[in-house]
Amino acid sequence: MGDCTRCGERPSYYTRRYSGESLCAACFKETTVEKVRRTISKYGMLSRGERVGVAVSGGKDSLTLLRILHELNSGSGPKSELVALTVDEGVAGYRDEAIDHARALCEELGVEHVLVSYGELFGFSLDQALDWKDDRELSSCSMCGVFRRRAIDEAAVKAKVDVVATAHNLDDYIQTFLMNLLHGDVERLGWLDPSTYDDNFPVRRVKPLTEVYEEEIALYAYISKIPFQSVSCPYMHEGLRSDVRDYLNELEAKHPGMKNVLLRSALDVTSKLSKGDPSGDGVAPKTTVPCGKCGKPSSMGVCGVCRMTEVVWQHTKYSGK
Ligand code: SF4
Ligand code: ZN
Repeated sequence: MGDCTRCGERPSYYTRRYSGESLCAACFKETTVEKVRRTISKYGMLSRGERVGVAVSGGKDSLTLLRILHELNSGSGPKSELVALTVDEGVAGYRDEAIDHARALCEELGVEHVLVSYGELFGFSLDQALDWKDDRELSSCSMCGVFRRRAIDEAAVKAKVDVVATAHNLDDYIQTFLMNLLHGDVERLGWLDPSTYDDNFPVRRVKPLTEVYEEEIALYAYISKIPFQSVSCPYMHEGLRSDVRDYLNELEAKHPGMKNVLLRSALDVTSKLSKGDPSGDGVAPKTTVPCGKCGKPSSMGVCGVCRMTEVVWQHTKYSGK
């Protein structure tokens, strides 16, 4: 007899402090997959027969997402056709390892793999786009993030998928929620739904790991022996996010389950805001318009990609012309 509180057969391996369960490795994995299955069903994220693009960067979260969706696909739930979508930002000495991990897992699982690069899409790599900056850390991620989102959209269109699944986890969600509050960016709170659709874009976006702690994703990847990228992007600059992460981790250590409570509250606020405030003076749901330059969906007249591209063209020799 083992002391796993779920099966009672095997020795416990991990204690979920927020629920009090002590689980063996197999039960930990099963309950994690089950949690993802429930999230998918609760938010109607995926339907049988759909072609699902999984954004796979090669980090632990995205490789775990691919593996879990593949596992759910082989069970009795809705069957989807999975396609991994990988973006090569063009960062020397960093991206190649991640792409190799993504490729290896796709081969192991027999999943189609579509790769797009900043070079082919925008005419410059991230290294080239940031070439001119003296302080390489200065908002590199905000600049890169704009291109990344577009690159995933382009990969989704290239792969002809119905929906794109990204690996944002519970910690990402509540960190972003708090950061939007701290930046006074109330409008954005309504854009954080785990499942979103934009009238100007044919592909839905879903986040099946929204209810899974980052720590548990890392443990899942470790137990499943998923090799993932170990080095960080040289341009990574988290600033406020890493303070928010530390604060939330401290809170969770003192009060297990706090992250879950914050997630519930954040999802509640997001859902109310994304539906619009019936009083008429609240926050409007996210709407997009076609960009005046490139025609892609944008939250304002000219999209972020076109604005950022102008900046790169002004500062580098990579004019794209
Ligand atoms: Fe881009 Fe920042 Fe991610 Fe590096 S860490 S790939 S700069 S978003
Ligand atoms: Zn544009």
